Amino acid sequence: MHYTEIMVRYGELSTKGKNRKDFIKQLGRNVRAVLHRFEKVEVKAQRDRLHVALNGEDDDQVIAALQGVFGIENLYPTIRIEKDLETIKRVVLQMAQAQFTPGATFKINTRRQDKHFAYDTNQLNNLLGAYVLENVDGIKVDVKHPDIAIRVEIRMNGAFISAETIHGAGGLPVGTGGRATMMLSGGIDSPVATYLAMKRGVKIDMIHFYSPPYTSEQALNKAKQLTSVLAKYSGNIQFIQVPFTEVQETIKEKVPEGYLMTIQRRMMLRIAAEITKQRHCSGVFTGEALGQVASQTLESMLAINDVTTMPVLRPLVSMDKEDIIKISKQIKTFDLSILPFEDCCTIFTPPSPKTRPDLEKSRKFENYIDVAGLMKRAIDGIKITDIKAGEEFLNQDQDVFAELL
Ligand code: ATP
Ligand code: MG
Repeated sequence: MHYTEIMVRYGELSTKGKNRKDFIKQLGRNVRAVLHRFEKVEVKAQRDRLHVALNGEDDDQVIAALQGVFGIENLYPTIRIEKDLETIKRVVLQMAQAQFTPGATFKINTRRQDKHFAYDTNQLNNLLGAYVLENVDGIKVDVKHPDIAIRVEIRMNGAFISAETIHGAGGLPVGTGGRATMMLSGGIDSPVATYLAMKRGVKIDMIHFYSPPYTSEQALNKAKQLTSVLAKYSGNIQFIQVPFTEVQETIKEKVPEGYLMTIQRRMMLRIAAEITKQRHCSGVFTGEALGQVASQTLESMLAINDVTTMPVLRPLVSMDKEDIIKISKQIKTFDLSILPFEDCCTIFTPPSPKTRPDLEKSRKFENYIDVAGLMKRAIDGIKITDIKAGEEFLNQDQDVFAELL
C-alpha cells in the first residue's frame, strides 16, 4: 500500500486542558526535528490530530522515526484520494483486503469535515460497509470490537482512508515537563532512567564523570554513544563531561576505606547539583534502584542525598533488574551498556564498602578534604558537547566492539 500521509493521534496530552495548546506546539516542534532529514515531509499540528504529509518520502522510514517521539499514542498510515465515491469505495476495499485474515470482522468509521459532501457519515458507513461485505469473502461486521477499523475522513482537501494502527511511544512531548540533568554512567540503569524521564516530557542534559587516566577515552565515548542513542527520543542532548580524577585521588588518600564510596557519591551529587542549578534545571535524575548495590540502600541514599536540597529523582527506584534490562533492550542501549569499558566508580570502589553508612561520619570524613576547591576545579574543567541522534563516537572496527555487537 502506498501511503501519502501519516495521521498522528495525540496521547495523554488530550486530557491536559489548558496546557493543550503548548503540548501540541511542542509535539509539532519535536516531530519536525525528528523528521528533519526527510526534506519533502510537511507537518501540521492541529487541535485534534497532527498530520504528516509524506510528499513522496518513504513511509516506513518516517513511521520508524515517529515511533520514537513521546506524546504520540497512535499512528495511522493514510492514503489521500479524490472526494469521489467510486474512488473511495475502491481504496476502502483494497485496505479491507490487505488487512483481512480468515474470520476477521470490520467496521467503517467515517468522519466528515466537509459538510457539503454529497453523503453524510451514516450513508457513507452503510454504502462502504455493504461494498466490503459484497466483495470480501467471509468478512463480517462488528461495530463494537472490530478486528479491522477502516477510517474514512472527508476533509476539505480530499478523502483520507486508513486501516492500520501503529502504536506510538506514549508519554508526554519532551520539553513540556521542564528541564533536568541526568547522571549518566556507562551502565545499564542510567540510560533506562533517562528514557523514562524523557517519557514524562522532561528535557535532559547529561552529566558524566570521568577519571583519566584511570578511565579510557573509550569509556567516555561509550557514554557519548549512549547519549546519541537516547537523542532519538528527545532531539539533541547537551553532554557535560566532568573531570573527576583529582576528587577521587584526594578521597582515596584522605578518607577511611569504608567511606570511600559514600564520599565519592556525595561529591558527585554535589557537583551535579551545582551544575544543575547553574543551568537553571530543576532536578537531578539518577539510575539508582533500591537494593541493587552497596550505594543503593536507603541508608546510603540518606547519607548521599544530604549534600543537596535539589530534587534527586530515581525513576528506577523500585524496579527489578530484569525489567530494567528489558527496557534497555527495547530502547537499544543494552548492547552498548554491556561493553566492558571501566567506569570511574568501579576503579575506586573498595572491596567492601559500607552498605549502611552513618550520616554523621560521612559529614565528618568529608571535612578531611577541600570540598569547595575540588568542586570548583571540577566544574571549571567541564566540557560540553551537543550530541545529535545517531552520531557515532565509538570506532566500530575495534575488536571488542565487533565481538559484542
Ligand atoms: P548504572 O547501571 O546506571 O551504571 P549501577 O547499577 O551501576 O547504575 P552505580 O554504579 O552505583 O549503579 O551508579 C548509580 C547511579 O549513579 C547511576 O545510575 C548514575 O546515575 C550515577 N553514576 C554512576 N557513575 C556515574 C558516572 N561516571 N557519571 C555520572 N553518573 C554516574
Ligand atoms: Mg554503574
